[in-house]
Amino acid sequence: MTEFSTFTWIAVFAVSAAIVNAIGIFAIYKYKAWAEKAKTYFMCFAAGVLISVPLTFALPNAIGKNFYAGFAALAGFLYMFYSNKFIENRTKQKSLAFGITAIEGIGIHSFVDGIIYSITFSASIAIGILSGIGLVVHEFAEGVITFSVLLEGKMSKMKAAWYAFFVAALTTPVGAFVAYPFVNMLNESVLGLALGFVVGVLIYVSASHLLPEARKYEKKHSNWAFLAGIMLALFIVFTKMIPA
Ligand SMILES: [Zn+2]
Repeated sequence: MTEFSTFTWIAVFAVSAAIVNAIGIFAIYKYKAWAEKAKTYFMCFAAGVLISVPLTFALPNAIGKNFYAGFAALAGFLYMFYSNKFIENRTKQKSLAFGITAIEGIGIHSFVDGIIYSITFSASIAIGILSGIGLVVHEFAEGVITFSVLLEGKMSKMKAAWYAFFVAALTTPVGAFVAYPFVNMLNESVLGLALGFVVGVLIYVSASHLLPEARKYEKKHSNWAFLAGIMLALFIVFTKMIPA
């Protein structure tokens, strides 16, 4: 596992994110009912992973690198809260999952997802893989949602699918590759702050976007999907399956 360079890991996960996003788009395009249902489970599972990893693993690691990482986490959380408010005010639309209101918002969000891969993997391969699992799974829902939003804008199905692919799927690897050289220059202490900030962002995405959205379409086993995400994350952390 150590033969893989940090950049290879980032590339593998960022490209997987784009692929899973594209699968989400394809699924809602072809199998609408199934995709709508699966979306809820994927969101719950992703929420479980994305709440456990920051709290139990990423935040302690960030604080190990920089004592003030908890403040950065608070800043990340507040940044998400206020940037969503800002987009809501500007577009006068109620936000969907991930605080997405406009396609512009989706593009920015997916780009930031990419940056998150670069930061987490640069801090520690284990944190990158763990949060990457949650992030890649949430991409499915993102693809589904982007396509649905575009269809509401009276676009043809074909056009909406391609548009969604460019805005939601491709932007994630672009964000990762653009951010990597900059993240790579950071020293351990600054990287600790960056990771802290990401912790705040991930906690916000899990608790304030994924969970409420999944709740709206509560399914029979959503709760189990959420718990499965938590269990998988904790299992990997405790068994140290992935070297830190
Ligand atoms: Zn996302």
